Amino acid sequence: MENIIRIAVQKSGRLSDDSLRLIKECGIKFYNGTGKLKSSSTNFPIEFLFLRDDDIPGYVADGVADLGIVGENELVEKDKDVTTLKKLGFSKCRLSLAIPKGQDYPGLSYFEGKNIATSYPKILGDYLKANKIQASIHEISGSVEIAPSIGLAEGICDIVSSGSTLMMNGLKEVEQIFKSEAVLIANKNLNNWQTEIIDKLLFRMNAVQQGKMNKYVLLNAPNEALDKIVSLIPGMRSPTILPLAQSGWSSVHSVLNEDQFWENIEELRAAGAEGILVVPIEKMIL
Ligand code: ATP
Ligand code: MG
Repeated sequence: MENIIRIAVQKSGRLSDDSLRLIKECGIKFYNGTGKLKSSSTNFPIEFLFLRDDDIPGYVADGVADLGIVGENELVEKDKDVTTLKKLGFSKCRLSLAIPKGQDYPGLSYFEGKNIATSYPKILGDYLKANKIQASIHEISGSVEIAPSIGLAEGICDIVSSGSTLMMNGLKEVEQIFKSEAVLIANKNLNNWQTEIIDKLLFRMNAVQQGKMNKYVLLNAPNEALDKIVSLIPGMRSPTILPLAQSGWSSVHSVLNEDQFWENIEELRAAGAEGILVVPIEKMIL
């Protein structure tokens, strides 16, 4: 057994940059020469396979790769037996049904007896079945959005992020049927050594993700406001409080969740905090 784990990442496309950035942020160094199909790291026992995203679920299921980064849309569509280890928070998009702009849309019954073009026959088929709609699915591998204008279908099911491609092709989105983001997947038959290395990688990914979700906050406050302020920003264990040179004042350092950030800042100001600095966190280990 060679002591290396293999990860499949998209060679070039909407997943590639963020996948490689995440791995770099985990402190893993590698050379990513354009056109290369394989690469390995100089400081972590990992090898990269650069593939089309369509092939990633299959390669991970077959054990050609131990790990993969792929969109949930592709993963569910390919229906392979793999483990999803982690949602990665990038390449967010949705699969939607769309119809020509000028058509009235009475609801899903619009699609009854119609032709729908898509590259996602499984996800669409499952959705239609669950909603008891009989329609015929035309599988095409690309440029799905032109199908209605060339008379191939009365509707399409495709990936939407901003909706501008639909608009350019005279279509309107009528139903969202699936939400997707990039996920880390793994083969189901890993040995102990591989599991150990993957746990190390996951530990690093979690630290990077936690860091992104939180901010380091520094502020000045009059000492009489400290109790209130500490209760507003409890931090990881508790905030650091340091005396300022000016007596009666302290500096408070803590960590705030990005989601609560603006709300908390308002409350802190109201409690007497001033000179508030917010600093990004690179990695955070809880
Ligand atoms: P490949 O050549 O590897 O088969 P592709 O053309 O099938 O690539 P991309 O367009 O690069 O695929 O998209 C890869 C994945 O990124 C999609 O499966 C989806 O999960 C996600 N994605 C697609 N479009 C967008 C978008 N506009 N915004 C964010 N994520 C997207
Ligand atoms: Mg593809």
